[in-house]
Amino acid sequence: MSDKENEKFDDELLDTSGVIPNKIPSGVDRRSFLMRSAVVGAAAVMTGQVVSARSRTLKAFAESLPEQNPAPPLSSDLAVVKKGKGPVLTTIDEFYKVGPGPSSSHTIGPMRITYDFYQRATKLPADQLAKATALKVHLFGSLSATGKGHGTERASLAGLVGKEPATVDPLFLDSLRDKPDQTFPVKLGDKTVTVSLKDIIYDATKGDFKHPNTMTAKLMAGDQVLLEQEYYSVGGGFIEWKGYTPPKKNPPKYPFATMKELRAHADSNKISIAKVMLANEMSIAGRTEEEVFAFVDKIINAMVATVKSGLKMPEDDVLPGPIKLHSKAATVYKRAMDDTYQSDRGIGALSAYALAASEENGRGHLVITAPTGGSAGVMPALVFGLIENRKLPLQKVREGMLAAAAIGYLCKHHATLSAAEGGCQAEIGVASSMAAALVATANDAESRVVENAAESALEHHLGMTCDPVAGYVQVPCIERCAFGAVKAWTAYAIASNEIASRHRVDFDATVQALAQTAKEMNSKYKETSEAGLALSVVLC
Ligand code: SF4
Repeated sequence: MSDKENEKFDDELLDTSGVIPNKIPSGVDRRSFLMRSAVVGAAAVMTGQVVSARSRTLKAFAESLPEQNPAPPLSSDLAVVKKGKGPVLTTIDEFYKVGPGPSSSHTIGPMRITYDFYQRATKLPADQLAKATALKVHLFGSLSATGKGHGTERASLAGLVGKEPATVDPLFLDSLRDKPDQTFPVKLGDKTVTVSLKDIIYDATKGDFKHPNTMTAKLMAGDQVLLEQEYYSVGGGFIEWKGYTPPKKNPPKYPFATMKELRAHADSNKISIAKVMLANEMSIAGRTEEEVFAFVDKIINAMVATVKSGLKMPEDDVLPGPIKLHSKAATVYKRAMDDTYQSDRGIGALSAYALAASEENGRGHLVITAPTGGSAGVMPALVFGLIENRKLPLQKVREGMLAAAAIGYLCKHHATLSAAEGGCQAEIGVASSMAAALVATANDAESRVVENAAESALEHHLGMTCDPVAGYVQVPCIERCAFGAVKAWTAYAIASNEIASRHRVDFDATVQALAQTAKEMNSKYKETSEAGLALSVVLC
């Protein structure tokens, strides 16, 4: 090579502007792109071959292409996708739901869906019902991929036979697991059809679905379809269907679509975030203060009950499913109580409370979506701790529940509560953020501290994937609830001890990051059990 050629060669390698474009190709992460470029350059030096900047760029791009598994886009006509426009109108009874575990989107949602279909079917004209021969439910997407581990088929059958999530006896669901061949009569007018688990069909896991949690329900007359409806379990036990329009609601007293607006109402009216939420609950749903708090009390009591029943389970109890996971809540609690150091006792007890409620979820017992079933150990742990350990007045915890709901509403409004859409950051991350707001509010923190605590807890869950082992909401979910609870307390501890105005990240920015991360997360990490721990953990 001549000196001139060498000079050109050196220049090409040194001048990175020719090699690395100002703009990294879309869909490629910057770090791996730069690494690939460097490797291609090094190879050129070692082999003595001149490689043009353009061909190095193209080669780096080709080798840096991410694994092709883009998350299927959600249909733009789903109400859950149209969120983010207009003020938050969610109400507390829509948000906190009591129902059987282990997953709000895979058990509570499907049970609400089939119950809804059962109700619709009963309204068909008598001559049509007289022809009915069968009820069929088809599960698609994530409901099909991980439904077996979640007990989706049992929940779906329970709804078809007229059972609702808040009142179903978990023993009924257990009996379906233990005796799967049972059949049940379903009365439709004068006609009775028989249903069993065979009528719940695990259908395609991949396809052009409007939502990853899609299902259809059909009333059949032989081969003829008398009634068919497509549904979506959109996270947190919320459901929609083809042609769904959200129910009409009254305008909120204090309209807000962001934390900034919510806090502005609180600060300008010199009231707490909880008071703003109370006023909105009353105006949107047309309820009295007593009615709002009566519902909140029901949820608080259910949360306390789930922790208590989890702690009471024998130390060697084995959770259902192939993992054969031993429960540990009671052991962790007992050992924590014996710990020499007070701080260790506190962390141990808080972890045990979260484990207790989450293990109840793993058993398929009744839990509370806050915001989901998988994350159902986080909020109850803090509620239980504030009531049983800190002995805070009930009213403080009630207000904390309202502030926590505001956090969940905003995450739902601008991002997602569904692991099938956003991974575990949307479940445990949101739960931890809600719990941080609960603790801050119950401790009379000012609105900025409530925001900062919620922001901090959410921030440190960003990017967390959902990869339940064997499709069961047990590993990593149960321990993850304990970590979410402890992180919530840490977030409050930091927020209440820093100078609030110096907190550099606002809650709205973190929710945007949650939404963006959810959008770009590889679909394998969205409750499909196709990657992460679900792949690396080998059950024997
Ligand atoms: S990993 Fe997280 S999001 Fe996924 S099922 Fe478990 S708790 Fe839910």
